[in-house]
Amino acid sequence: MKTLDIEKIRKEFPALNREVHGKPLIYLDNTATSQTPQRVIDAVRSMYIDHKANVHRGVHTLSQEATDLQEQTRRHVARYINAHSEREIIFTRGATESINLVASSFGSMLPDEGEIILTVMEHHADIVPWQLLQSRRPGLKIRVVDINDRGELDLDQYRSLFNEKTVMAAFTHVSNVLGTINPVKEMTAFAHEHGVPVLIDGAQASPHLHLDMQDLGCDFYVFSSHKMYGPAGIGVLYGREELLEKMPPYQGGGEMIGHVSFSGTTFAELPFKFEAGTPDFVGIAAFDEALTFLETTGLDAIEAHEEHLLDIATKGLREVAPNVRIFGEAHHKSAVLSFLIGEEHPYDFGMLLDGLGIAVRTGHHCAQPLMERLGIPGTIRASFAVYNTEDEVRAFLNGVARVAAMLG
Ligand code: PLP
Repeated sequence: MKTLDIEKIRKEFPALNREVHGKPLIYLDNTATSQTPQRVIDAVRSMYIDHKANVHRGVHTLSQEATDLQEQTRRHVARYINAHSEREIIFTRGATESINLVASSFGSMLPDEGEIILTVMEHHADIVPWQLLQSRRPGLKIRVVDINDRGELDLDQYRSLFNEKTVMAAFTHVSNVLGTINPVKEMTAFAHEHGVPVLIDGAQASPHLHLDMQDLGCDFYVFSSHKMYGPAGIGVLYGREELLEKMPPYQGGGEMIGHVSFSGTTFAELPFKFEAGTPDFVGIAAFDEALTFLETTGLDAIEAHEEHLLDIATKGLREVAPNVRIFGEAHHKSAVLSFLIGEEHPYDFGMLLDGLGIAVRTGHHCAQPLMERLGIPGTIRASFAVYNTEDEVRAFLNGVARVAAMLG
């Protein structure tokens, strides 16, 4: 595996040069969104300057160029996640919209009575769309998989929840709070043995892990560009072609039709059937560069670097704050560190760290059922990306020690 030149990588990210409250920014909120490399910013700029025209609509050169750039990204995404075909790649506004699309469209094909398996560590994006479906289809019940003390899913319970009523399973690949990397391939295989389709929320896996849809075998996989060094406002739904073909459209409008008349409308081929209206073709085109950044940097090297930072941050935190409680100590864990110090409120802690230029997340992280399960209102969360350094981790640890002392 290659060794990364982090200083060189950092130079690609203009945001990392800025100061906050007169201190150099230490950005540790990467789970919420990552910063953007210059090449992605340049690609957005170039779309506005050189190629801004609506896609799939015009015969003129600009429209052809914009369409080509958008479709180039679709092919790139398909290669990046090893999908069977680019017809399986639907562009959405993000992971949230992708899950809503599946819960609404695929959900409408589920039987009236049945059970949907979720886990207690889901982000609200993978809970509420299923509850909305349930509100329209009261015969559908949600069953929830619990976690153990390390924050790993209780796989025995997961297996025990499957029965003849199970119609769907949806779970996260990586928890945005605990960092737990779930054994999604095995979980998918088990669901399929019971004939149950699977959606995987990959919002926190896609920036860090190799993804291979054909190997994973899931039915749906979702992620957002903005967490992968790409532009905000676009995301991906991967769906198995066979299922997408059968599913009704999610929204109606331009682009998604074959022919429209008042006596009846036919729909476009995949993937366009699910892409009503003008897409964010600027963001989609620029996402191509983010994927190239991830590939050329190397996912193995990214993962190893982030794991190293997590390791020193976790050990260091126990040293500087003996009264720390860490949430999520899975054997297989991504670079997310959620914690509380004594009885201090996470919000106060986060505000004081911000005063030192250190950006961490505080609160429930859109995972209120998980917070309820853990019996806490929220956590402080530091999360690491490829551009973070050991020096930044040390500054974060000093910051935690200082804030803990200030709060007494
Ligand atoms: N799922 C997980 C696990 C997440 O962490 C997030 C965002 O933090 C989402 C889904 C939703 O992503 P987005 O807001 O980009 O749609």
